[in-house]
Amino acid sequence: MNTRREFLGALGLSGGLLLLAEQLGQTSALAMDRGEGGGPPGQYELPPLPYDYDALEPHIDGQTMRIHHDLHHKGYTDGLNKALASLSAARESGDFGNIQNLSRLLAFHAGGYVNHNIFWKNMAPASKGGGGKPDGKLAADLQRDFGGYDKFQAHFTAAATAVEGNGWGVLAYHRDLRRLMVFAMLNQQMQVPVGTVPLLLCDVWEHAYYLKYQNRRADYIKAWWNVVNWKDVSERYYAATA
Ligand code: MN
Repeated sequence: MNTRREFLGALGLSGGLLLLAEQLGQTSALAMDRGEGGGPPGQYELPPLPYDYDALEPHIDGQTMRIHHDLHHKGYTDGLNKALASLSAARESGDFGNIQNLSRLLAFHAGGYVNHNIFWKNMAPASKGGGGKPDGKLAADLQRDFGGYDKFQAHFTAAATAVEGNGWGVLAYHRDLRRLMVFAMLNQQMQVPVGTVPLLLCDVWEHAYYLKYQNRRADYIKAWWNVVNWKDVSERYYAATA
């Protein structure tokens, strides 16, 4: 991305060093969020949940987790593979008559695939470290950029609760501006500031909470804080800022 290259260039990196810095950034993100199973080139697999379906109860119920992972996330996985295959076929045939729709499908399903890969790992049962507050560098930089954990949490909760329709609450690191940011991501990919690396995602699509919480999204988000895996969020932050 041009802004990133310009930013790295401004730091005095050029040529091979610049390329290396870009590749390191891309490699760490891919290694972290790509499906565990691999698969043939260009094919992505649904990664398994890192815990049992009911491990996050009572905050998130097992039936919701089963449907959310096995059906919704599977749908995004299949949709991503299909969009990539359709784009490959378009390049082979030279027929780009459907390119606008294919571009939209690629963005939507790539977002849905990666967002959920992150979301599952962003959560953990209390027995495996879920809940509490972050510490170390992340805690210090939440203080720097938001005025403390409580202000960050209130900001994130407000952004996630206020999403109109489908979307996500997001804590991200902006690599070019070098600061943490909270924002609402609409659908699976929209209204995202260019240059951000997601660290913590809260799915506020109705499929994430409706069976247990019905229309009470605020109650779901309040409960969701009890299962946030700050160790995972911190590891993403270290990788993004390395
Ligand atoms: Mn979802």
